[in-house]
Amino acid sequence: MLYLDHNATTPLDPRVLEAMLPWLTERFANPASPHAPGCAARSAVERAREQVAAVLGADPREIVFTSGATEANNLALLGMAESPTLRGRTIVTVATEHRAVLEPCERLARRGFRIVRLGVDAGGHLELAALEAALDGDTGLVSVMTANNETGVLHPLPAIARLCEARGIPLHTDATQSFGKEPLTVSPGVALLSASAHKFHGPKGVGFLYVRRKPRVRLLPRQIGGGHERGLRAGTLPVPLIVGMGTAAALCDAAERERLRALRDRLEAGLLALGGVERNGAGPRLAHTSNLSFAGVAATRLMEAMPELAVSTAAACTSAAAQPSYVLGAMGCDDERIRGSLRFSLGRGTTAAEIATAVEVVTRAVRACRSAGMV
Ligand code: PMP
Repeated sequence: MLYLDHNATTPLDPRVLEAMLPWLTERFANPASPHAPGCAARSAVERAREQVAAVLGADPREIVFTSGATEANNLALLGMAESPTLRGRTIVTVATEHRAVLEPCERLARRGFRIVRLGVDAGGHLELAALEAALDGDTGLVSVMTANNETGVLHPLPAIARLCEARGIPLHTDATQSFGKEPLTVSPGVALLSASAHKFHGPKGVGFLYVRRKPRVRLLPRQIGGGHERGLRAGTLPVPLIVGMGTAAALCDAAERERLRALRDRLEAGLLALGGVERNGAGPRLAHTSNLSFAGVAATRLMEAMPELAVSTAAACTSAAAQPSYVLGAMGCDDERIRGSLRFSLGRGTTAAEIATAVEVVTRAVRACRSAGMV
């Protein structure tokens, strides 16, 4: 199987599995227990907290472990909405955010919040001037993802953070697709940041929310009953998963980005040469992601025609519901272009030989579907 769907999930790095194993077997103690095995588990958890914080240049005390980015986004948005220090009842976000941001916003709209969903241009970019114009004295939170999961488009986080910081507005960023892949530090201006371990070769079921301490961001917890994680997220900590996430964070290597960019560019060049292929997303993008539309072919048919290749028609979670991509819709793509779009996302294990094979496989499948009129 040729796996080019790393934005949906990545394989566990064998070194991560090795680090996790003792905590799944003999080292099973509860990290909240005061006895020696409990203390050892607690130390392992705190080491992982440091490893995650180091990637962001954060204080380890600012990392709150969650079950993933969905929970982290929920905690950021819903927790902020009930924050004792909320500045206003308007939340400014973007139409191309992940559902795990948009749906909490919809819930908040039903509770009387004003939600401003900013549009993007044809390349998927948010205009800074539009963001600036949307901010006012009632803005309680801005939520803008670092990188889009479908197109890889990168928003200018440092500039957005400066805008928000100058106005004293907390900024949340869903960094699920960029954490450990793109350089990002939380200072200055980022108040809250979400990520999920399985997107960076860690285990599924664990993630974190960065919650800034200075100036302090106060959230109302969503999950209570035990006071874990400084009262922000109750529940016994999944030590093996947390150790896995810490190890995965420590293994993230900045050099990998340029290797993947070269492979991704080769893949794009090979497929664009087919003709009738358009790239979705322009300007700064994640180095390992490519979203392409194939004219005259339905992407679902194309995927059926190349079972040896694992790619995606849209966000994995949205494609389960078989809905057309609202991300490409927000970029002004017409229905045919959306129907013909495939996302390729590369990862640590991707090789040059695989990319060459992928170009051949997709080329053959597109030609076959086009000549069979499989629109
Ligand atoms: N945000 C983004 C941008 C994502 O790509 C994903 C995963 N598809 C999530 C949030 C949710 O992550 P998880 O399913 O691990 O909670």
